[in-house]
Amino acid sequence: MIYLDNAATTPMDRAVLEAMIPFYENNFYNPSAFYQASVKTKMQVESARRKIAGLLKVPADTIFFTSGGTESDNWAVRLGAFSEGEKKKHIITSAIEHPAVLNTMKYMQEKGYEVTYLKVDRNGIVDLDELKSAIRKDTILISVMHANNEVGSIQPIKEIGEIASQNGILFHTDAVQTFGHIPIDIEDCHIDLLSVSAHKLYGPKGIGFLYIRNRKDFGKLLFGGSQEKSLRPGTENVPGIIGMSKAAELSYERMDSDYIYIENLRELFIHKLKEVMPEIVVNGSPINHLPGTANITFGGITGESLLIALDQQGICASAGSACSAGAIEPSHVLMAMGLSAKEASRTLRFSFGRCNTKEDVINTINSLKSICHV
Ligand code: PLP
Repeated sequence: MIYLDNAATTPMDRAVLEAMIPFYENNFYNPSAFYQASVKTKMQVESARRKIAGLLKVPADTIFFTSGGTESDNWAVRLGAFSEGEKKKHIITSAIEHPAVLNTMKYMQEKGYEVTYLKVDRNGIVDLDELKSAIRKDTILISVMHANNEVGSIQPIKEIGEIASQNGILFHTDAVQTFGHIPIDIEDCHIDLLSVSAHKLYGPKGIGFLYIRNRKDFGKLLFGGSQEKSLRPGTENVPGIIGMSKAAELSYERMDSDYIYIENLRELFIHKLKEVMPEIVVNGSPINHLPGTANITFGGITGESLLIALDQQGICASAGSACSAGAIEPSHVLMAMGLSAKEASRTLRFSFGRCNTKEDVINTINSLKSICHV
């Protein structure tokens, strides 16, 4: 099997699993309990929090554990927007956000908020002038993702953060595709809220965190006990937290070498593919893109049939489309970038990771050649 869908999820690192196992076996205690064993567990949770905070160079009490990217995005948008009560009811986001943000925006619109969706160019990048002119007196939040999950384009978050901060607007960025893969400078980018999910960086599923710069006036999504300073109650996912911090630590240690290794695989793939299919189009920014994401529009074959044929040969890739109500909808990201529905339907995402090899690339090219008869 050749797994080229690392933007969807990554295989868990063996060292991460090993760090987690004791917290399912002997050290299974509830961190909120009174006895010494649970106090020790609580200390290990706090040490994991400090480790993650240290990687981002932020205070430990700004990291709040959640169940993953979707929850972090929901929390950031819903509670970020409510942070000044009813006074400000305008939000700015981009047209290419993940559904975790876009569908939360829809909900906010139902609640009486106005949402401006910034357009993107053919490379999937927002226009800073459009952002500046979208700002109103009642703009409370700007939510623009760090890198897009379908095409890998990296947004100018430093400039966006500066614009937000100059105008006294909260800035949320969905860093699910970037944390642990490329550097993030919270201070330099004036980020107030940042969403992360562990399963995109060789960590476990069902765990993530939200960075909250200033929790004063920041509300809660869930109501319950006193965990996570009462802002995100519920017994902690201790093995998940330990696994996420281990995965984050490893990803930061290997960030530079992984970046080069993975980008080389992507470049080799695109180069070899262009040799046999010169008509392909690589979508996304040619300069500011994630190292491993290759979003490709093919000439004469639909993405769906290509995906099925690849699957039959044991190759896992992803279509840039979402299945809704039984119909395949063209990707909102590709449509926003100006592709036609037909072009979008001929597009696949191949996302490389640290477990892939050159042989994976060559074998995939050979399969594509035989499927497409070139
Ligand atoms: N945001 C982005 C950019 C993503 O790629 C994903 C996952 O695909 C999410 C949010 C949702 O994260 P999770 O699967 O942890 O809920």
